[in-house]
Amino acid sequence: MSHHLTRVLLRMVLWALIWMFYAPIALGVAIAKLVAGRWLLRDTVECPTCRGDVPLLGLWECSVCRFRYYGFYFSRCICCGNVPTYIDCINCGASILSPLS
Ligand SMILES: [Zn+2]
Ligand SMILES: [Zn+2]
Repeated sequence: MSHHLTRVLLRMVLWALIWMFYAPIALGVAIAKLVAGRWLLRDTVECPTCRGDVPLLGLWECSVCRFRYYGFYFSRCICCGNVPTYIDCINCGASILSPLS
């Protein structure tokens, strides 16, 4: 009986130890994912052709309905619902696919 209890306690201690090591790792992974998400949604995108930064915040015109709006380039057009799938690089003219697509 007491032997069984010891085994249960040992198992609980083992689980506690595993969680003590695992929890900070899980937290670190969660923070890393959050930072990666933030990086994806930052206000510039790097051009894969010329490596220049292309600003995503500014005055944009919807390619479908010509509605003009200030804000984040890859956001949904409030007039027709279109979401831009690419942006033209201001430095070299090459098109860059949306990092969100
Ligand atoms: Zn539109
Ligand atoms: Zn470029």
